[in-house]
Amino acid sequence: MDMDIKSTDDVMSSIFARVVAGDIPVQIVYEDDDVLAFTDVAPTAPVHVLIIPKVAIRDLAALAEAPPHITTALMHAVMHVANLTGIATTGFRTVFNTGRDGGQTVPYLHAHVIGGRPLEWPPG
Ligand code: 5GP
Repeated sequence: MDMDIKSTDDVMSSIFARVVAGDIPVQIVYEDDDVLAFTDVAPTAPVHVLIIPKVAIRDLAALAEAPPHITTALMHAVMHVANLTGIATTGFRTVFNTGRDGGQTVPYLHAHVIGGRPLEWPPG
């Protein structure tokens, strides 16, 4: 129970919760009722967009507890972003870093949409 409370505090005080609140300016690429997509502040490729839900969800594991329409909205937003940024036909990568071993540094669910150059595989 303590872990649940800590986790909620964590996500609510995270930088992306402040982005949703409008406290931190971002370059918006796409927005609808459920999600916000904006350019990553430290892009790793010519296109590097983050997609976040407007409701605070900690990570991909916690998404299982959220209403299913949030998952649908996130996946639809991936294709909207790919089309809007011109990488839908050249190809791109969608990544949800999750938890410590997954390399998640911001404790608020986000998808990276990365493209605009050939990407290497596998990741480290
Ligand atoms: P993670 O490592 O959690 O998967 O990814 C977090 C991402 O958020 C990183 O790519 C980082 O550059 C990005 N980021 C962190 N703070 C900000 C910010 O204030 N604005 C924007 N636009 N991106 C941020």
